[in-house]
Amino acid sequence: MDGLIPFNRPHVPAAAQALVAECLASGHHSGDGPFTRAATQKLRGHVGGGGVLLTTSCTHALEMAALLLDVGPGDEVIMPSFAFVSAANAFVLRGATVVFVDCRPDTFNLDERLLEDAITPRTKAVVLIHYGGVACAMDVIGDIAARHGIAIVEDNAHGLGATSDGRPLGSFGALATQSFHETKNVQCGEGGALVVNDPALLERAEILREKGTNRTQFARGEVDKYRWLDVGSSYLPGDLLAALLCAQLDAFDDIQARRGAIWSTYDTELSAWRRDHGVPAQHVPADVAHPSHLYSLLLPDRADRDRFIRHMADAGITSPFHYVPLHDAPGARGRSRVAPSGCAVTNDVSARLARLPLFPDLGATGVERVLEAVVGFVPRRPHD
Ligand SMILES: *Cc1c(COP(=O)(O)O)cnc(C)c1O
Repeated sequence: MDGLIPFNRPHVPAAAQALVAECLASGHHSGDGPFTRAATQKLRGHVGGGGVLLTTSCTHALEMAALLLDVGPGDEVIMPSFAFVSAANAFVLRGATVVFVDCRPDTFNLDERLLEDAITPRTKAVVLIHYGGVACAMDVIGDIAARHGIAIVEDNAHGLGATSDGRPLGSFGALATQSFHETKNVQCGEGGALVVNDPALLERAEILREKGTNRTQFARGEVDKYRWLDVGSSYLPGDLLAALLCAQLDAFDDIQARRGAIWSTYDTELSAWRRDHGVPAQHVPADVAHPSHLYSLLLPDRADRDRFIRHMADAGITSPFHYVPLHDAPGARGRSRVAPSGCAVTNDVSARLARLPLFPDLGATGVERVLEAVVGFVPRRPHD
């Protein structure tokens, strides 16, 4: 790859043009058409077979999760501070208070050892982000949530196709959310899905998604008219986007193989450099399979990380930082609090993390250029 290497470039499978053309010609462009049904079926296979509802974004799926769990003022929702803003905003929009818990220094996921101490009688749910699609400690978290009667919501935007102990991510929570934003492994520009694993929530989820009506049941011929039943909004994407998503899901194995090859090459070829300079990559526990969504490195300190990003930019390579902590962001004020254990690891990880370009069409020469640039960087801060 010549010229600038971006962090991400959306992959367009060969079949995409034909499927979008087919949708254009079909006369069905609004939501819940044939391509939405096809994409939904394909998705179910990747997330464990629960109910799947396509949405306009992962953000909207998270908003639906907050509505479905009836979270409101006085309720608390626990989540990591090292996370995407939508996880917090979805619950803040309902008037709930977010309680931020620190992340682990190795996987960058919510630290399960700190979870139980953050629970109060007001805790209604815990939102998990499987960072880079590397699963959170689901056995420990599942036990704690069950013991306290707290719902689990998986923000699985990174983790489509990943497993923990052989079980798909997106199948652990009462609810899980997926993203098909351009930057994700499977993408249609903007899009998402809500995975409903608690069957008791499925009917209401369909109603919330269709403007508070039972139009979805009507479309299936289950009722003879549809009417206003509940609160709701319009969360369904048009069928053109679903056609694009179908092309992506049909190419899933190819996309994953290409990403996996790049991830493994980075990991193998950088192991000596990482050891020599004390730069760990994200830790992948033995019982998890991840979807090669991100390759992230922890530089020795913020100054080295910032120098690393500039060094990569000088080589024409975009190697960005990632989440700025949520807990002390301006938007967090008056809407959240930090769990008693604090968020020191989140601050540290956020200051030291950088990600390498990783997308299906990076190509062998692109990978070579990235590797060459990385090993040409020498951190200043000494390590032991
Ligand atoms: C991308 C992302 C989102 C938001 O997804 P949209 O589909 O853009 O709303 C939410 N959470 C995580 C962890 C993400 O990576």
